[in-house]
Amino acid sequence: MLPTKPMFSSLAHVVGCVAFIAMLLPTPSWADRPVSTPGVPPTAEQKGFHRGVVAVSNPLAAEVGIRILEEGGNAVDAAAAIQFALNVVEPESSGIGGGGFMMIHLAKTNETFYIDSREKAPAAATPNMFGTLSFEIASTSGISVGVPGTLRGVATALEHWGTIPLAKALKPAIKLASDGFNVGPLLAADIVDTTDRGFTMTNLQPETAAIFRPGGVPLKEGDLLVQPDLAKTFQLIAQHGPDVFYKGEIAQAIVAAAQSRTRAGAAGLGKITLADLAAYDVKIRQPIVGHYRGYTVASMPPPSSGGLTIIQMLEMLERFPIGDKGQGFGFGAKNTLHVMIEAMRLAFADRAFWMGDEDFVHVPKKGLLDAMYVASRSAMIDLNTVLPPTTQGNPLPFDMASLLSDKVKLAALVPHREGTHTTHFVVVDKHDNIVSYTTTIESLFGSGITVPGYGIVLNNELTDFNFPPAFDLATGNPGANDVAPFKRPRSSMAPTLLLKDEKPFAVIGAAGGATIINSLLQITFNIVDHGMTIQEAINAPRISSTHRSSVSCETGPIFPLGFTPTPPFSAAVVQALQAMGHDIPPCSANIATGASSAAQAAIIDLQTGKQYGAADPRREGTVIGLPRRHQEDDGED
Ligand code: GLU
Repeated sequence: MLPTKPMFSSLAHVVGCVAFIAMLLPTPSWADRPVSTPGVPPTAEQKGFHRGVVAVSNPLAAEVGIRILEEGGNAVDAAAAIQFALNVVEPESSGIGGGGFMMIHLAKTNETFYIDSREKAPAAATPNMFGTLSFEIASTSGISVGVPGTLRGVATALEHWGTIPLAKALKPAIKLASDGFNVGPLLAADIVDTTDRGFTMTNLQPETAAIFRPGGVPLKEGDLLVQPDLAKTFQLIAQHGPDVFYKGEIAQAIVAAAQSRTRAGAAGLGKITLADLAAYDVKIRQPIVGHYRGYTVASMPPPSSGGLTIIQMLEMLERFPIGDKGQGFGFGAKNTLHVMIEAMRLAFADRAFWMGDEDFVHVPKKGLLDAMYVASRSAMIDLNTVLPPTTQGNPLPFDMASLLSDKVKLAALVPHREGTHTTHFVVVDKHDNIVSYTTTIESLFGSGITVPGYGIVLNNELTDFNFPPAFDLATGNPGANDVAPFKRPRSSMAPTLLLKDEKPFAVIGAAGGATIINSLLQITFNIVDHGMTIQEAINAPRISSTHRSSVSCETGPIFPLGFTPTPPFSAAVVQALQAMGHDIPPCSANIATGASSAAQAAIIDLQTGKQYGAADPRREGTVIGLPRRHQEDDGED
């Protein structure tokens, strides 16, 4: 074990690390470059690592993670410490007041699985509980607060697959919260942001305002942010374990806050009780597995719609020569964008109808990914015409388990507003154990409610459920995502692993609500079909469409950090898509596809074993890695 070193001084003080900030990376031309292993940068462009790499949306949290790896911790240890640090330095996106999905890949046994610490509905939840509340009002009232799972999830990961105690994983976060840190440009912008829900989130509740707007003045970039209440909370957890949060004084404070904070009178009051917190449980889940051009794709199963939807789209589109310019495809070509948009519309129609928490409803996973079913959906995509408004297909005849069900008729879709924040990070350790973790409090600053005296920002995850309920016996709508007691709301989060010959090769994930799914589709194409390096794959502009939405497409500079994705989509191609009938406004720096949709990723070069990270310049994406030790150096690094 290396001696402990002073923390958070600067990246340069991370002794033994080679660090770089993704925002500073050059973006060399990818077109026509011969690619040996997809995603891997030419050596001259970026050096690989051997003893671990982290890719995180915030530099301070990345520094925490690499320190843990450097001190001999494994990927799970580093991920735990990064999550707690993100709670402090990127509090608008994730934390112990929320939930998430942690993918763990164990190198030794080649197993991949997920710790599902998604928030749950309380026992008193009912399908109609949102009544006529708008998303904006419900999502900022106690009624939207789900039972938080992040702390149980991280503690479970550490207990079974980590090597350090919870108290050690909390230590860097305690220091950041009690000593304070200088507010970065993203947090400064988010503190005064009004684009998420049409109003500023940090002045709805007095405790939230006291942290982020001391004396009524919003913190700005460079200001010191000290969070003594949060530091106290982490110390309590370090001392007493997670039960102090789920059964002790913190549980009482969470319940009191959720049950009293409302922007809609009695209709907005939270339903969480002490019993709900005490009963919270995490689930270990197996990945949804599919195949694309010789790669195995492992991704997040229900309650997320992410894995099923991404894999369905990849398999629908495999028949098109996505990467082949000679055949009229290639990055940004009209044909490529057209077929992607159509696949998004088709897959999102299925998602809206069939997907939800399968602990409560039957999700026809087998049918949705059945080769014949996927082929029938893919056959609806025509190169020259735009599909009329799409509805879901009927995967039930392809789904053995569903033959027992009578829910075979089809019905209209329920439009649904989704959050667009969250954060994603990746850790690879020296043994090639991998953690890929998407973690959230749902919307920007969650519900905007901070637990008085404890500094925990509470989620608004329950607004990921349908409101109003969609269940309809007459039409066969299963109401897959209707509210029910103890149920987890449907998610889009999808930490995803690509494997070649059963070996992990690329690990990708993103933030951004439903756009996560479309981001990961395009990042996969960028690596596999377009020959981009992993960083270029993240830097490229993205489009997004869901079943009813118009198509959004990125240009730059993107709010709030000013990043411009490259290479740009061509205006002529966008016009050609409009002329075909696509509902695609001119590309703009759309917030929903900007900082909110930041992706992080890593590649393990199958030929050399070197590890490469990539982080999103849409936020303060940071990659730090550990090269081979000097004495072991083969001269390549
Ligand atoms: N609540 C969203 C989901 O689970 C995440 C929000 C986001 O990614 O911005 O899909």
